[in-house]
Amino acid sequence: MGDKAEGVQNLLAYLHTLLPDLESVYKDIHSHPELSMQENRTAGIAADRLRAAGYEVATGVGKTGVVGVLRNGDGPAVMLRADMDALPVREATGLPYASRVNADQNGKSVPVMHACGHDMHVTWLIGTATLFARSRSAWRGTLMPVFQPAEETGAGAQAMINDGLFTRFPKPTAILGQHVMVGSSGEIGTRSGVITSAGDSFEIRMFGRGAHGSMPQASIDPVVMAASTVLRLQTIVSRELAPTDAAVVTVGSLQAGTKENVIPDEAILKLNVRTFDEVVRKKVLAAIERIVNAEAEASRAPKKPEITLLDRYPLVKNDPEATRRTVDAFRNYFQGDRVKDTQPTTASEDFGSFGAEWQVPAVFWFVGGTDPATYAKAKESGTVADLPTNHNPRFAPVIHPTLEAGVEAMVVASQAWLSPSVH
Ligand SMILES: [Zn+2]
Ligand SMILES: [Zn+2]
Repeated sequence: MGDKAEGVQNLLAYLHTLLPDLESVYKDIHSHPELSMQENRTAGIAADRLRAAGYEVATGVGKTGVVGVLRNGDGPAVMLRADMDALPVREATGLPYASRVNADQNGKSVPVMHACGHDMHVTWLIGTATLFARSRSAWRGTLMPVFQPAEETGAGAQAMINDGLFTRFPKPTAILGQHVMVGSSGEIGTRSGVITSAGDSFEIRMFGRGAHGSMPQASIDPVVMAASTVLRLQTIVSRELAPTDAAVVTVGSLQAGTKENVIPDEAILKLNVRTFDEVVRKKVLAAIERIVNAEAEASRAPKKPEITLLDRYPLVKNDPEATRRTVDAFRNYFQGDRVKDTQPTTASEDFGSFGAEWQVPAVFWFVGGTDPATYAKAKESGTVADLPTNHNPRFAPVIHPTLEAGVEAMVVASQAWLSPSVH
């Protein structure tokens, strides 16, 4: 008994000597963000670090993904996941290590920023992988760090799965992942069951018939058709779902026409759906299709609307038993009440694909990245919602203690699954 706690202490003994190096890795990745499926430089850094620490390394898994394997005797295997991609956002943090990078997105040059904190995730995982490699006498089993591309487009986890993640690498006993979020820096938040929502995005093209703006009788006006559709879509959540069932239906883009006196041929809607339950999800998606088709028909549309899936994120569901085990380990290690029970968030994550499709219990948690004094003040004045969230151009986690907390959390959670060493 006590072997695991001792193992954690041994593993983390090197963390403080590693921190300056990890901080420079973080700043370097932050100032060199890469868009989804373009994470070549970041993947290169991860792969080099894993090789230097003694891992077997596979690169190019699902285009830019990196998988490391460290076999250290008999015992369970644990997969640890970090996502690597940044966003087409112009950074406005004013930090000395802020990004000034532009990159190509579908033939257009766009500014790029690590606005979701995936640079922190990569750094956490490099730190964790390094510590496990340094203290091999503190544990037994197999550690498998996975650096995933393209979380922000919902394509990366699936790309790695399609590229043989489940057949080329050892099947883990548990899959662990973490995300930096608004919250007091160094605090950990998680829950059993659903932790992030399912996300579905669609493009809907509605067809009309163009005409001179002065001759509406000659047209089938797609602007009115689309406007009516947008309003009717609002009734799905308010009128079709039970008040206890949560969902979001947002039309984030509505485009039609070019000029005030020309009735256009078509209108394009882009919409995003978030749900926390598969039955509710199916209901909402069916209602969208029904309403879109019915509104087109009500307008005498010459043809049925085209509904195209843009992206899809699975529910992230924390396995109850695995969550209990992980949270127990967190509570044993972290002092005070740093480990919080959180509500599910309407953010979405493709982390859920790994556990669901490999049928391995998975646990996902959040690590606060907001300066503790700033967060406490915002909480007191009821202005937490005004703090820059993930994807905001001013989103900037404080490096300390966010950096060390994420490494500690990953080491502690991993050690809850690996076997203690034999004395
Ligand atoms: Zn994001
Ligand atoms: Zn993210």
